[in-house]
Amino acid sequence: MIIIYILTYFYGVIEMALEMKPNCEKCGYEFHKKSNAFICVQETTYCRECAENLYYVCPKCNGELVVRPKAKADTKTVMGDR
Ligand SMILES: [Zn+2]
Ligand SMILES: [Zn+2]
Repeated sequence: MIIIYILTYFYGVIEMALEMKPNCEKCGYEFHKKSNAFICVQETTYCRECAENLYYVCPKCNGELVVRPKAKADTKTVMGDR
């Protein structure tokens, strides 16, 4: 049963890590529902433009910046939409 405990623990950590922060860390861009936010392992959030300018590397922790998954996928949202 220890495995279930560990999985539950990690799921909680991941959920916390993916919590949306309201602004871009670099330029202060305010994210809206359809924003393509980029996030690093340390929960630092960047807008698409800043992530591009940073070559998808977080300057704070040197971690990779990845697109923050949306709760509901929207096919109408393209990468060009900040
Ligand atoms: Zn930004
Ligand atoms: Zn970082």
